[in-house]
Amino acid sequence: MHQVLVIEDEPGIRAVLRVLLTAEGYRCIEADTALRAEIEARSHKPDLLLVDLGLPDGDGLKVIRRVRAWSPVPIVVLSARTMEEQKVAALDAGADDYITKPFSAPELLARLRAALRRVTHATPSAVLRFGDVRVDLARRAARGADGEIHLTPLEYRVLGCLARQLGSIVMQRQLIREVWGPGREDDSRSLRVCIKNLRAKLEPDPRQPHYLITETGVGYRLRADEDAA
Ligand code: CA
Repeated sequence: MHQVLVIEDEPGIRAVLRVLLTAEGYRCIEADTALRAEIEARSHKPDLLLVDLGLPDGDGLKVIRRVRAWSPVPIVVLSARTMEEQKVAALDAGADDYITKPFSAPELLARLRAALRRVTHATPSAVLRFGDVRVDLARRAARGADGEIHLTPLEYRVLGCLARQLGSIVMQRQLIREVWGPGREDDSRSLRVCIKNLRAKLEPDPRQPHYLITETGVGYRLRADEDAA
């Protein structure tokens, strides 16, 4: 049973999360201040932190930085703050993902599973399924309903980088650094072209991406069908 530490000062939202998480089989620990959050994180060693950014005694970012200093525990932000800079700041501080309020319960649970999956299965699934398309990252082979699909080495690297954080946000800067190398972080054009090409090859409808999602101003998120073998 996974333990989730919910750091949220609004009792109503905490109650909703408690019901939702408990029903999914998580054990729910709660904290309503930044100070309490650190105490609970240290004493319970939860498997995941769900952090609100606006806390009565400080910013959730501070909690994230302080916990990150001693723990690799997955941290998911749940915040009403919707600005791109705020998402980037939270991810920079060490958060793994960012969900904006109001949230959808299935989406929240999917993101928590994704964040936990990274810890329990450190190596990503080698085969990803996107509808009719299957991509074998290890063998660098892809097939769709009409036969083989050719992906370039660069496209495999971008896909591999996104797949390591399957279901969670990967920052644009991180993608560029890992695929093109350091010093190119401001060159987002090559990445955009690569994403566009990947969508054309993998998405059922590239104009309305379902698997390769843009997080405006922040980065990208890769989803895959869960029954991939
Ligand atoms: Ca709050």
